[in-house]
Amino acid sequence: MNVYDSDRMTDVLAPLGYQPTDMPDGADMVILNTCHIREKASEKVFSELGRLRMMKEKARDQQGRTVTIAVAGCVAQAEGEEITRRAPWVDIVVGPQTYHRLPELVAKVDPGVRNRIIDTEFPEEVKFDLLPGEHAPRGPAAFLSVQEGCDKFCAFCVVPYTRGAEFSRSVSNVMTEARRLVALGTSELTLLGQNVNAYHGTADDGSTWSLARLIREMAEIDGLERLRYTTSHPLDMEDDLINAHRDVPQLMPYLHLPVQSGSNNVLETMNRRHTKDVYLDIIDRLRDARPDLALSGDFIVGFPGESDRDFADTLALVDKVGYASAYSFKYSPRPGTPASTEDVQVPEDVKADRLEALQQLLNAQQFAFNKKTEGQVMDVLVERKGGRDGQMAGRSPYMQAVNFQGSEDMIGKILPCKITDAMQKSVSGEIQTLKKGAA
Ligand code: SAH
Ligand code: SF4
Repeated sequence: MNVYDSDRMTDVLAPLGYQPTDMPDGADMVILNTCHIREKASEKVFSELGRLRMMKEKARDQQGRTVTIAVAGCVAQAEGEEITRRAPWVDIVVGPQTYHRLPELVAKVDPGVRNRIIDTEFPEEVKFDLLPGEHAPRGPAAFLSVQEGCDKFCAFCVVPYTRGAEFSRSVSNVMTEARRLVALGTSELTLLGQNVNAYHGTADDGSTWSLARLIREMAEIDGLERLRYTTSHPLDMEDDLINAHRDVPQLMPYLHLPVQSGSNNVLETMNRRHTKDVYLDIIDRLRDARPDLALSGDFIVGFPGESDRDFADTLALVDKVGYASAYSFKYSPRPGTPASTEDVQVPEDVKADRLEALQQLLNAQQFAFNKKTEGQVMDVLVERKGGRDGQMAGRSPYMQAVNFQGSEDMIGKILPCKITDAMQKSVSGEIQTLKKGAA
């Protein structure tokens, strides 16, 4: 979602003459768009700000140039005051719900004076209604935020505090953006939300649409070849969405459905509000609807009170499901969340051991998944140049990163590709060319 938000920030600043650049050196303004989900992500902000301070001073002393520094995103939301105290060279602090106001905030910055501006309101107005309609092409595969915020309050998570209450954009607002992206050359859309499958947007006739209904409508857009959505909560995985995986060919056979833990005790203290069996049942129903569905998930190890036995339950669940890819993290106590003050915290070395064991299993599953696709011909959406000369990169329907020999004119096309070699995190393939006159 930060990638989406960053693009929108560039949209909102374009009328002021700002253009995105790949390198902070030489820039007139640098915006750090930050993540607060775990401590590691959050602390990175301050080390990065240290580097930007040097850059800002160098520009001033050697070139007489002023560089505006802004911090956006969830660290800005949660630690606005702390940022301006620890890093007084920051000019603007702007939260995830107010970045549409960047032009006003930039206008208020007086380069000669230290007048730091903090805007971390949760405003009445909806930023999506105020962001510019026009923007640059986003490429063959693009993100589209349809839902934001969360009311679930899992005991470990800062999202309900930083992104705010659950909100769904209106159907017409989202459909207009989808059509515009497709008109600009996008053929794959990933619908985004912290709880995207809780989407309940209002349509023009006043009715409320589910994510499934939105997906069905979007699939009708000419030129939109692929749809994905992320991230989902198991409890909102309703029948109409499961059925969409059976009925809508544009909906790709890949789903990120985090479970966090395989232990019912831990799930309960996490306030996830479902059991392991409820999750497994959803997976069964999804696989009935779409037998080749590749699954991905998120896991937290070392949640307060997690015993060896609880952890063994997580390994057993992973074994049972079989993931094509997954993200796993050591529990990170976050300020203001209920779990952070539990007195049964798991020691760091135990967390590290559990993470290693879990990742070994998940990595083996990912490799096995990739290996199984060797020899298959799949549709690959060509997205960009690859790392090596003459190499291009794209994604399979199952979200695998695919590398192959090709040329830049392939970008944006969906081409048949034979998977030849499986690696841990990617596969290599050969684009299949049709030979005229072949039998
Ligand atoms: N809404 C999604 C998750 C969004 S946060 C869901 O309910 O599944 C993305 C992931 O970050 C979570 O799935 C979780 O695995 C991880 N995460 C969130 N808070 C964390 C914390 N305090 N420590 C470690 N990992 C955390
Ligand atoms: Fe965080 Fe997801 Fe739980 Fe919401 S449902 S509190 S975003 S982990």
